[in-house]
Amino acid sequence: MTRADLFRLLLVAADAPGSLFDHAEVSRWPKGALDDLLRSHLVRPAQTGLTAPCPHCDDGHVETVTVVESADDTEKPRYLICCPESLKVEIDEAMCRGWAVDLDGLGAALASALAVSTPKPVVPGRFWRLGRMQLRDTTREVVFAVRLAEDDADALMRHVGTGGRAVVFVPHRLPDRSRWPGRAPAVISLHDVAAMVDDNVVLDPQAVIEAIDEADRLAELAGGVSLDARGKKLVRAQVKAEIKANLTDEMLVAAYQLHGSFDKAADALSEQLETDISRDKVWRAVQRAKDAGTFEPAEDSASVGRSVASQPRDRGKKIERYSK
Ligand SMILES: [Zn+2]
Repeated sequence: MTRADLFRLLLVAADAPGSLFDHAEVSRWPKGALDDLLRSHLVRPAQTGLTAPCPHCDDGHVETVTVVESADDTEKPRYLICCPESLKVEIDEAMCRGWAVDLDGLGAALASALAVSTPKPVVPGRFWRLGRMQLRDTTREVVFAVRLAEDDADALMRHVGTGGRAVVFVPHRLPDRSRWPGRAPAVISLHDVAAMVDDNVVLDPQAVIEAIDEADRLAELAGGVSLDARGKKLVRAQVKAEIKANLTDEMLVAAYQLHGSFDKAADALSEQLETDISRDKVWRAVQRAKDAGTFEPAEDSASVGRSVASQPRDRGKKIERYSK
């Protein structure tokens, strides 16, 4: 196992719940790697759940360690495992120590590689804010989260916001895009973009930028689900331009019938479509309808006019407002 392999192994472990490295595993790491990783704060001693390989059996079967505290404080605790052959086997302390990925340390190494602020834990052990990173002529909020692909990650995802503008770094596993509330942000796996150089975590800047651009592109394709205010205004303007381009005689005649005058119809359409519709345009449409024999000064439209007119004043205003 090379140190590069070991770093990738740590990233996989960081995204798996309760991952521990026991004596047997650590003994297969490159020489000196454990000390270096402890010094870089990427690995820390594990608190609980220790296991150890059996020193008596050739297969080195791994068992859970039982710690037996001594009756008085002068003696050290004893470490025991159960063996099918030898029954209770005492092992030495070094063999039953365990190590885990130091997630706070990994977050700090990421922050350092991105030149952003020290991670602030929002959900301890799961979610950290890292301030804002520079991206071309703008900045993006950066967060670091672990185990985002797990069932309980929805609460973590809500801390990211719905705008889709954040950049989320995870150790290894990417959550399903559909699980994000609102727009999916850029989610970048350190497993894909990070490497260990000497004792430092470094990122491939090109890969990071490409991942963000790809996420932006996908968010745009997903379309007006959760557009910001500017996006909504653009869509509305596009719809209006579309209506204006396809403004049919039918619509012009209907406006004339509703308002009962060419001037009023032209004014109402102009206001609704935020563009200039001339009195003549309405007049010509009505003439064409008359020539074609399709224009009917129907009793229907007159009765609509009357019923609207008969409503209290503010009711009429309300109808006008909704029609915009
Ligand atoms: Zn054994």
